[in-house]
This record gives sequence, structure tokens and C-alpha cells, in this order.
Amino acid sequence: MRSRPIGFLLTALAGAALAFGGTTASASPSAAPAPGAASAGDVGTADACYTWSGTLREGSSGEAVRQLQIRVAGYPGTGNQIAIDGAFGPATKAAVTRFQAAYGLAADGIAGPATFNKIYQLQDNDCTPVNFTYAELNRCNSDWSGGKVSAATARANALVTMWKLQAMRHAMGDRPITVNGGFRSVSCNSAVGGAANSRHMYGHAADLGAGSQGFCALARAARNHGFTEILGPGYPGHNDHTHVAGGSGRFWSAPSCGI
Ligand SMILES: [Zn+2]
Repeated sequence: MRSRPIGFLLTALAGAALAFGGTTASASPSAAPAPGAASAGDVGTADACYTWSGTLREGSSGEAVRQLQIRVAGYPGTGNQIAIDGAFGPATKAAVTRFQAAYGLAADGIAGPATFNKIYQLQDNDCTPVNFTYAELNRCNSDWSGGKVSAATARANALVTMWKLQAMRHAMGDRPITVNGGFRSVSCNSAVGGAANSRHMYGHAADLGAGSQGFCALARAARNHGFTEILGPGYPGHNDHTHVAGGSGRFWSAPSCGI
């Protein structure tokens, strides 16, 4: 920020104010580049959510890497999940490579301007991917409180879940994915008869409607995008939705779908 031209700052501030105003930025289909702001020396255009200022590669570390890991969490390879730990290791490199390939970029596992600009196109001013919102991921309360983790952690987990869903959505032809719920406080979970250890209480889980894809296609695709818990048709209580979640361990069950 410190070395950027003033117009850049104003644009960023305007974006920040917009995000701060409380109304979600989901109306904007993509993060608009700041007009005239990009110069030859800039790595990427300004972004109201998060702007990377360098190239990241295996061996890099810190908050910039952690922010990148959130965005590529949906590209861990089948059955895997990447750590959101700020350490750019082989798994992060592979995820970045898959992200790049998914969007037709040079797939070298090094995150530079082309990768960051694609991410800017894919995110709203509140850092959610353009096709998902915090509101969709929390139909229980407005402040993410009352779960099994802090409100901040629950919200952060939901953000990762949204980026996984964005990756899955893209892999399935960019058709809308219906999210019928996500985070639940302990009391919301009890009210709907959720499991005592439900990952909904951690912000990790999302319940998906059939949409145009169907429950089984969603369950199958979820295996490729970082979901360690997948419950769908044939699993008790899951004939009318597909449940996907992150978190440790793996449990996939959708017998009617061959999972
Ligand atoms: Zn669920």
C-alpha cells in the first residue's frame, strides 16, 4: 500500500468502506480492477479484500501464503485437504498448479500476477468467492456465536468451505450450487436434531440442495475439492441433501451414490 499512487489508495478505501458498510458486496459479479491503477511495476491490481504484493512459491511463508491457501483450498487433489498454515510446501504448490490449470493459466505452481488477478476476479470485497456468501453459510444467527469454536474461527472455517465450493462449482461447469445452511450454534444444532459432534457447529459444513447437478453428482465431486466429510443419499437423514464439510479425519458415506 505505502508505495501505491493516491488514486489506488482512494479506490481501496472506497472498497473498504463499502465492505465495512455491512451490505455484502455480492452485487458485484467480480472485483473490478481499479481504473488506470495498474502500472508496469505492479504485481496485480488493487483489491478491496486482499492484495498480494509479490510472487509466492514453494518455501514462501507468512500471511500472504495463508491468504493464498484459503483461495486454493478447493484444489488439494482427490481425497486430500491442504493445511491453511502459511507455509508454502509441496501440497500448496500442487493446489496452486491445479487452480492455475482449472482456469487456463500457465500451471507452474508459482503464484504471480496472473494467479492473483484471477483470484481478484473470483472474490468479493468481503473475501468470499463471488458465488457464495456468509449469509448462505449461516442461517442460524448473524454473529457466528454459540458454536463449538469461537465466532471468528467458525466464520473463518466457513470462508474456507466457500472457496472449496467455488472450486467444485467451477469443476462442475459453473452452474449454481444451492447452499441451504452451514454454521449452527449448539442450540441451532439441537433444534434441527443435528448430530452431537456435527461439523456444522465448527463452521466447516454446508448442506447442499440438489440444484441442477443432483445430490450424487455433488457428493462425487466433493471428493476432489477438500471435503473430508461427505454425507449423501443412502446415509441416514441425507436423502434430501448432500452434506459436505472440512475438518480432520475422513468420513464419506452416500451409499446410494456408490460412496
Ligand atoms: Zn449437514
